Amino acid sequence: MIITIDGPAGAGKSTVSRALATRLGYRYLDTGAMYRAVTLVALETGEEPIAVANGDAWTAHLLDPALRSDAVDAAVSGVSCLPEVREALRGAQRAFLAEGDAVAEGRDIGSVVWPQAELKVWLDASPDERRRRRAAERGEEAGETALERDRKDAAQMIVPEDSVRVDTEGLSVEQVIEAIVVLVEARA
Ligand code: C5P
Repeated sequence: MIITIDGPAGAGKSTVSRALATRLGYRYLDTGAMYRAVTLVALETGEEPIAVANGDAWTAHLLDPALRSDAVDAAVSGVSCLPEVREALRGAQRAFLAEGDAVAEGRDIGSVVWPQAELKVWLDASPDERRRRRAAERGEEAGETALERDRKDAAQMIVPEDSVRVDTEGLSVEQVIEAIVVLVEARA
């Protein structure tokens, strides 16, 4: 089964998606990390993002702590809005999902990358809550940057028509995962 978890920055996608994949024994695909890795390599080498996305040097950076730097946060939306970058990364994402069971998180996975997913979740929370979460993780400025990034990412954030909206406000990570597991079991 393919489960997509899309939604804005700070809704809790990464924590929830990773834990859900572990719980189900599924593979985990962090598509934000792919856009971040392309951005990081472009910043470091001065190469055009499109050329970076069509090469494979970025794949060595998918776990690089620098993916979460302020420089990458500030630049990633300008890279992810390039249609050629999206096409290259969507191809890699589809190849991964074609292998079977996975939890994939991003902005456009249930809508564009894998619309045939058995379960599509749109994970959300109020702007205040999302700003607070990011600020608690990474400082006040990061809280503001997350909301600013959502504004820049608006064109990529496509709520799938047949998605289930899960509002994480006031819920613990465990409660969110339980809610999604119930949805998974209903589709198994
Ligand atoms: O999820 P995360 O915050 O790590 O994503 C980083 C950036 O990657 C987003 O701000 C967005 O610009 C881009 N992104 C995207 N499409 C996705 C996942 C991420 O455009 N499916």
